[in-house]
Amino acid sequence: MKYETIRRQVLGAILDAAGMGLIHGTSGNIAVRDFQDNVIAITPSGRPYAGLTAEEIAVVDLEGHWLEGPYQPSSETPMHTAVFRARPDVGAAVHTHGLYCTVMAMDGEELKPSTPPQAEFAPIRTVPFELPGSAALARRVVETLGPDRAVLLQNHGCFCVGKDIGAAMTAAVYVEEAAQIACYARLLGTFRPLSEQNIADFKAIIASNQAV
Ligand SMILES: [Zn+2]
Repeated sequence: MKYETIRRQVLGAILDAAGMGLIHGTSGNIAVRDFQDNVIAITPSGRPYAGLTAEEIAVVDLEGHWLEGPYQPSSETPMHTAVFRARPDVGAAVHTHGLYCTVMAMDGEELKPSTPPQAEFAPIRTVPFELPGSAALARRVVETLGPDRAVLLQNHGCFCVGKDIGAAMTAAVYVEEAAQIACYARLLGTFRPLSEQNIADFKAIIASNQAV
C-alpha cells in the first residue's frame, strides 16, 4: 500500500476522535501530510468510520487531485489542502463538528482559554460561515488561522492543526474542552478566561521547555 504510514495515522486518529465523541457519523475529517512527497492522506467522503481500513483512506496532492484509495476524498478536502499549502510547518489537520465548539462558534467571537493547557492553542478565532467544501471557506480558514493552531467555524465546528497528528489531535481535544468550559461558565455567569498575560506566560514556558 502506498503512503501506508500516513494512511494508518489518519485511520487511527479518526477512530480515536469518534471514540472521544468529537466526531459523529461521517462528520469531521482528518488529514496527515507526507513531507517527503508533499501529499496528504485524508478520510474518504461519506464512509462510516467503523470498519474503515487504511487502504480506504484517500491520498491527494496539495491541489486536491485524488491519487490513491477506492473512495472519493472528503468533500472538505479544499479546506485542508489550502491550509497545507499556506503552512509548510503543518503536518496534520483535524476538523470536527464537536458539540461545544459548534455552540461557542455561534456568536462569531474569539474563544478564550480557561486553563493553562488550553493556552497553547490561543488565539482561537471564528471563521464566518461559508458552505462546506467551498473555495470561500478554504480561503477564510487560511486567513483566520494565520500562523495559529485552531479556529472555530461558525455554524460548523472547528479546524485544528499541528506539526504531526499527535499535535493536531491534542489541539482538537483542548479546543473542545475550552469550548465546553466557556459554555458552562457563561451559563453560570462566571466566565473568567485566562488573561492575555497568563496566556503569554504559559506560552513562554512551553517554548522554553521545547528549547531544551
Ligand atoms: Zn465539516
